[in-house]
Amino acid sequence: MPEKLLSIEQNNPEGDWRDAKAEFRKGTICYSAAPKNVTYLGLPNPRPWQPFDADWKLPPDWKQTILKGMKERLQKYRSFRLFMEICVRCGACADKCHFYVGSGDPKNMPVLRAELMRSVYRRYFTLTGRLFGSLVGARELTEDVIKEWFYYFYQCTECRRCSVFCPYGIDTAEITMMGRELLDLIGCNINWVLEPAANCFRTGNHLGVQPHAFQDSLQFAADEASEITGLPIEVPINRKGAEILFVMPSADYFATPHYYTLLGYLMLFHEIGLDYTVSTFASEGGNFGLFSSHELTKRLNAKIYEEAKRLRVKWILGGECGHMWRVFHQYMDTMNGPADFLEPPVSPITGTHFENARSTRAVHICEFTADLIHHGKLRLDPSRNDRWNVTYHDSCNPSRAMGLLEEPRYILNSVCRNFHEMPENTIREQTFCCGSGAGLGTDENLEMRLRGGFPRANAVKHVKEKHGVNLLACICAIDKATLPTLMEYWVPGVEVAGVHELLGNALVMTGEKERATDLRGEDLRGEPTVREEAARE
Ligand code: SF4
Ligand code: SF4
Repeated sequence: MPEKLLSIEQNNPEGDWRDAKAEFRKGTICYSAAPKNVTYLGLPNPRPWQPFDADWKLPPDWKQTILKGMKERLQKYRSFRLFMEICVRCGACADKCHFYVGSGDPKNMPVLRAELMRSVYRRYFTLTGRLFGSLVGARELTEDVIKEWFYYFYQCTECRRCSVFCPYGIDTAEITMMGRELLDLIGCNINWVLEPAANCFRTGNHLGVQPHAFQDSLQFAADEASEITGLPIEVPINRKGAEILFVMPSADYFATPHYYTLLGYLMLFHEIGLDYTVSTFASEGGNFGLFSSHELTKRLNAKIYEEAKRLRVKWILGGECGHMWRVFHQYMDTMNGPADFLEPPVSPITGTHFENARSTRAVHICEFTADLIHHGKLRLDPSRNDRWNVTYHDSCNPSRAMGLLEEPRYILNSVCRNFHEMPENTIREQTFCCGSGAGLGTDENLEMRLRGGFPRANAVKHVKEKHGVNLLACICAIDKATLPTLMEYWVPGVEVAGVHELLGNALVMTGEKERATDLRGEDLRGEPTVREEAARE
């Protein structure tokens, strides 16, 4: 019941926080990675275990492994060294994490989440910590500390909201990433991250969809788009020499409401006559490696660029995905770049040079579409989206990691007539996370997801009550997978859609038949529109 989750206690536990043990309760944690997935990825210590077990079957030298791993990373990553040193405990970040807001657990305050690791850093890597121990906030690395790391680093969605408010720019998400990477070294990881990553190596995508099924799904979508529009829409697959490689998250061709976004892409590409291809090998834009380690992130990202090279395309166009863009924009260049075997992206329709993608050679679909609209290249009928009263959720990665704030809004305002923003401190750079990112979007931790998603849902509730909002648009596959559950729980009556689904609805295509349905198959004239309802009242 929502009332139960709303009784959030914010009492600090008695005694020293460093002595408290993590309580592994069903609903708040993710299950461990299955040994077959650990083995498949070549990671250490595959074994059956669960976080509820007393004995985690750690390797005998687990402590040395962690400390050695920490030392290597302190030498390698300046940011890690800096973040371990400079926090002044001002508390500006304390109430900015959705998991703290939704759970009341003090260790979900970003400052304390980071302190879980800083305390160990002080003990083993600083002179004062070695000499004065707990007096200066240092603590021993014990099995209980490892369990606490696991509990709280897998209760952080790496969303980076806290970093927006930190006067020093400390990025707690980076500390979480480091924590997860260290835990990987001793075989403490979760299945919801490693299984998709293993699938990606095996079949090219997180969902484990095999090449022939990928082809069937895309063909099915093309047929459906053809039926809606009466036009012969096709989808080119593995076509060598195409100008553009289009990469999307696998959920786009496998799940709803993502699938409607895919229909929108296909219709758009047909209308502008885009010379593109999709690929069975790069059939995943997302990168679950990001939720595990830098090494895994790099390996998954490399696949896309290798495929771009093999297919001899000029540049990459990427779909509505979150972490795919975090990797492209923040890490790709140093991990696998520069991608100078591709060309700097230029829109074949408008001639726009995408200067921001000069290094990665990858353009976001919203940048691409907004540019088309801006140059008057698309005919749009926004009244086709009149049954929706729309608000926009800035997905954490595209907004905070790449600054994609205006383009989705520009598209939405061009394709809908009823758009309302949520309160200012919950959107754009300050957007609240869906509560399920960074590999936490599974079922076994549903309570924590609903708690973490509460601030987002609360802002949606506000615009629902004020403006009658009934659709939450977003541009991330994880959002599309997890926000429907969040809405159903906290704000029933609000559905979730991709921006390109709404674009596909509004797009007036050359030679199309009179549209009877929208992309969801709903009768376009069957229900009174939001405007008609308002007029009647
Ligand atoms: S806002 Fe920054 S400096 Fe202040 S407590 Fe949080 S992490 Fe530390
Ligand atoms: S990155 Fe996001 S989830 Fe993690 S501590 Fe910061 S606000 Fe919380």
